[in-house]
Amino acid sequence: MSRLPSANQLSDYKASNKSGVQTTGSGNPVDSGTASLTIGKNGPILLQDFQLIDEISHFDRERIPERVVHAKGAGAFGYFEVTHDVRKYTKLSVFSKVGKRTPIAVRFSTVGGESGSADTARDPRGFAVKFYAEDGNWDLVGNNTPIFFIRDPILFPSFIHTQKRNPVTHLKDADMFWDFISLRPESIHQVMFLFSERGTPDGYRFMNGYGSHTFKLLNDKGEYYYCKFHYKTNQGIKNLPADKAAEIAGSDPDYSIRDLYNAIANKDYPSWTMYLQIMTEEQSQKVSFNPFDLTKVWPHKEFPLITVGKMVLDRNPKNYFAEVEQIAFSPAHMIPGVEPSCDKVLQARLFSYSDTHRHRLGPNYLQIPVNCPYRSSVSNYQRDGFMTVTDNQAGIPNYFPNSFSGPTPTQDAAIHKFVTKGEVARWETGDDDNFSQASEFWSKTLNADERQRLVNNILDNLRNAADFIQERTIKNFSQVSPEFGDALRDGLKKLCKTGKPHL
Ligand code: NDP
Repeated sequence: MSRLPSANQLSDYKASNKSGVQTTGSGNPVDSGTASLTIGKNGPILLQDFQLIDEISHFDRERIPERVVHAKGAGAFGYFEVTHDVRKYTKLSVFSKVGKRTPIAVRFSTVGGESGSADTARDPRGFAVKFYAEDGNWDLVGNNTPIFFIRDPILFPSFIHTQKRNPVTHLKDADMFWDFISLRPESIHQVMFLFSERGTPDGYRFMNGYGSHTFKLLNDKGEYYYCKFHYKTNQGIKNLPADKAAEIAGSDPDYSIRDLYNAIANKDYPSWTMYLQIMTEEQSQKVSFNPFDLTKVWPHKEFPLITVGKMVLDRNPKNYFAEVEQIAFSPAHMIPGVEPSCDKVLQARLFSYSDTHRHRLGPNYLQIPVNCPYRSSVSNYQRDGFMTVTDNQAGIPNYFPNSFSGPTPTQDAAIHKFVTKGEVARWETGDDDNFSQASEFWSKTLNADERQRLVNNILDNLRNAADFIQERTIKNFSQVSPEFGDALRDGLKKLCKTGKPHL
């Protein structure tokens, strides 16, 4: 019987490897893998059985903290190849020459569920890319949506809590989710993406990726441009209908991991074409929306996609824990030619991601092979800490400035200087044009069938929320389009009549 490559992993290993001697963690050979050291056949066990203690105490420490978000994921490796010259906009080394290839790592994920949750859940998908460049690692830590639910990062922990478990029932709670969403209507644009067909992609190969935030690009003349990154799937977009996604969640919760692994193992390498959208400073001051607001897209007609290159994934992880569970992306990992913009959510992520890795993996998480910038060299004044596994920069001076050939800064890495001013305050942004792009999405992007499916998908979830929350949610959707609000109201009435029990 022919089996998928993922099912044959162990047989494939056996076909090309011979068994070696089993050892303890300290490399000492062991004489049995099946019997503890006991006094007599029935025990007790001796404290001198280091092999047993070594096995059990290591096992006790196998789990590291799960990511608070994006816990369930799949990873793969490959390369980015430049196909078009964009040096006009940026001096980024990875874009420096047509034909140039840079090794990459990519991790795809769902967002809200735990590490054992179903891959086909309705959820945005993480799409994080690490470029191993010659001048250090550059991480683009994006999603399969060009926008997000909130525009002020102070709301992020609460927003995520609404999709986690109720602290008493330990169940997902529709009241928590729709209460928050309806109280923060800036989320409506992304909620519509989430409940559209793109909320349940048919695996990770068939979805687009987006850097989502607005970044700043800097060229070698010192000029800057604002930029958004898009990566469009060359496999074509494929989504799962809601009922199929639910069925697969039960029958194959690891559907997307399996699909990616087998495609790569079968040499059917997935690829994406990367594009930039570019906005000048002058344009940024004139556009009708805030270009640094993460709930907004930049319209394609005004800011057309500019092709840069392609990303290809052609290697599966050698070991999932080493290379996927431990891979640590951070939007703060930037190389000369790309810088943050004032997008508030990006600003908070610059801190939060590295903070999380220090918690999950320790202060030396960048020494872990999958995270270390292996195509450049790390040379600085950081030393010591838990799990220092390199030579700790050997005899290089550990203070700066110094007179003994310690590393020195370079102006190549100088950030673009800019002036900013404004009143320091907690600026509320909840009412910043929440509906115009969402209305365009409803009326121009979706066709009638897609609108109907969006309504059905929302109803399927909103029906579980309390009446007053449903009412407030419908009011918000009515501001996107009265027709949308009416369809939801009518749909809820019909569901009420069927008397189908709520979850
Ligand atoms: P366009 O008609 O040029 O762009 C519409 C875009 O919508 C498409 O290119 C596609 O993005 C995306 N899209 C299509 N179906 C879905 C779906 N079910 N869920 C999410 N996205 C979808 O018009 P504009 O650029 O003027 O944008 C109009 C509206 O389209 C926006 O208000 C926004 O809601 C939505 N949109 C725009 C995007 C952009 O970057 N401008 C990106 C995504 C959505 P893609 O080509 O990236 O797959």
